[in-house]
Amino acid sequence: MDKLTIQKELLKMFGPDRLLSDELDLMYYSYDSSFLTKLESTSPYAVVFPKSTEDVQQILRFAWANHVNVIPRGAGTGETGGCVAVEGGIVLDLSQWNQIVDIDQKNMQVVVRPGVIHAELNNELAKYNLFFPPDPGSSLMCTIGGMVANNASGLRAVKYGTTEQYVLGLEVVVPNGDVMITGGMKSRAIKNVSGLNLTKLMVGSEGVLGVITKIRLRCFPKPRARGIALAVFDNLDDAPATVLDVYQAGILPSGIEILDGSAIKAVNEFKPHIQLPDAEAILLFEVDGNPPSVEFEGNVIREMAGKRARSVEWSTDPQRMAKLWEGRSVTAAAASRVRPDGSRIFAGEDISVPLSRVADVLRAIRELGRKYGIQVVNYGHIGDGNVHTAPVINPENPEEVEKVLQLVDEIHLLAIEMEGTTTGEHGVGAVRRRYAPLEHGLAHEYMLKTKQAFDPKGIMNPGKLI
Ligand SMILES: Cc1cc2nc3c(=O)[nH]c(=O)nc-3n(C[C@H](O)[C@H](O)[C@H](O)COP(=O)(O)OP(=O)(O)OC[C@H]3O[C@@H](n4cnc5c(N)ncnc54)[C@H](O)[C@@H]3O)c2cc1C
Repeated sequence: MDKLTIQKELLKMFGPDRLLSDELDLMYYSYDSSFLTKLESTSPYAVVFPKSTEDVQQILRFAWANHVNVIPRGAGTGETGGCVAVEGGIVLDLSQWNQIVDIDQKNMQVVVRPGVIHAELNNELAKYNLFFPPDPGSSLMCTIGGMVANNASGLRAVKYGTTEQYVLGLEVVVPNGDVMITGGMKSRAIKNVSGLNLTKLMVGSEGVLGVITKIRLRCFPKPRARGIALAVFDNLDDAPATVLDVYQAGILPSGIEILDGSAIKAVNEFKPHIQLPDAEAILLFEVDGNPPSVEFEGNVIREMAGKRARSVEWSTDPQRMAKLWEGRSVTAAAASRVRPDGSRIFAGEDISVPLSRVADVLRAIRELGRKYGIQVVNYGHIGDGNVHTAPVINPENPEEVEKVLQLVDEIHLLAIEMEGTTTGEHGVGAVRRRYAPLEHGLAHEYMLKTKQAFDPKGIMNPGKLI
């Protein structure tokens, strides 16, 4: 079916207020936050704003019957081109379908529609002394639907895990328009081992198996206290060794972040008033819980870090904690300012490796940066080995673009070689798809068979994930 006919049919179904078909509007949907979509942007045929499960069903039945691609989209903050119609099709913009359906305080769970913004959900849950622990850096923008589809997480993953640990059940419209409820049709149970775990299958499926239209999430009690420690190291290897010392002392912080020398320099150039100490690495530990346990854990961290660090500071004072954390909170922005004509690109940006390989990986990335003559700023969630690499280039310079693509290719391969993964957070999308056979072997074949079972016509978000 051609683009114009698709637009006309959708207009009949949804009217002009819930449909975009103007070329300029469509162009906006040819991007997410990835470098890939800045290099090659593809506009969808149309954008629809569904507001009910029936709306989604109607679109999928139409698409199924006419072999038209469908691409779910939340806020478009993804870093992999996942919500972009790289092979054409209809984009479903779910960001306006943003109701919190039920905060079920007595059962420690919440039911939401896909377009709810992460930070807004936690603001509401806080009124009930609850929280949904995964905490992506894009919290103020990204949707819960996008987080579930990408199995998103953040710096608290080291203690609280990723989104998948909190998804109790889903409503999903599968490609032929059927509505499937996972985790038990009527269940409000927190534990459930009945049947194949289709909830887990859908989490992280990046929109290739269906459209997530309702989400039942587990919530945790909101911790009552926090503390932050900042430790400064003259030797890079001492940073991961200290993380291990802290674990072996029986402490699991809620966050452990690293800034290596490149990130420290970038922060100090961007915001000189922060004055991070010149060092090979800085570690930031966040601890949460009840006040006495936070104090206790803080003391252990101080003792453990003190064995190797040049200096350690610990605080539970909100103002001082904000100050200690300030360097980490501006690192991503600082990376973009390390050269006046450059900007930080999102490519090869979130590999994850075993803790024992973090220092080797950081050194290897520095070496790759030198090889290609590209500045790379390194930071990340060292507690779970998730390294954020930020190459800085002039994107208008084709030679630099060519070089950086080779650099990030080597970073992805390095991650696999170091017993890690090409992506610890941001997903595969259109960007990392080609590494899937190498990373997963035979399991990749079974992923393809699973896709075939759900979507034999291949209409759901083609060109992504597998
Ligand atoms: C500044 C910044 C910081 C970030 N920090 C983090 C971080 O710390 N941790 C992290 O994990 N990620 C991070 N990200 C990446 C991104 O924000 C997350 O992956 C987020 O979960 C994407 O949500 P979204 O609503 O923007 O989804 P989109 O980008 O719109 O979509 C992402 C994928 O999900 C699919 N999808 C969206 N909604 C649905 C649905 N309802 N049903 C089925 N499929 C759907 C899309 O098809 C696409 O494949 C960051 C991004 C930015 C720009």
